[in-house]
Amino acid sequence: MTLHKHQGQFTWDQVNILKYKEEGTHFKDITRQILFAGQPDLPCQWRYFEIAPGGHSTLERHHHLHVVMPIRGAGQALVGTEILALTLFDVVHIPSLAWHQFRATGSEPFGFLCLVPAERDRPERPNAGQLEDLKREPNIARFIRV
Ligand code: MN
Repeated sequence: MTLHKHQGQFTWDQVNILKYKEEGTHFKDITRQILFAGQPDLPCQWRYFEIAPGGHSTLERHHHLHVVMPIRGAGQALVGTEILALTLFDVVHIPSLAWHQFRATGSEPFGFLCLVPAERDRPERPNAGQLEDLKREPNIARFIRV
């Protein structure tokens, strides 16, 4: 099966543009497309997320891993205690239980592919104490949006 990409757009045949998450105010201007939903002999999901300028994903962590590849625009990510500038086609590993958040930088949408296991634990957001700990690092305090 081939899902053809629409020329000049970051959309694909037979792939819907979905809400990033059902509800919440802890993310902004981000969409989700499921490029591969998983099969028994390949139990993973391959998603494309796109963050509009000024937008960001949820600050979260979980046991499962992500492998991320930016394919549109430019962005930054908090991964653990590091803030990374992401360049197109970088391969970014998000380790288990690392706090992470993505943000678009620049005037173009920031789009990235993200691989996850089909069966995975739910993301957790920081509680007040964890947020306080994160914010002890000034760079992180400036970066995160909650
Ligand atoms: Mn995540």
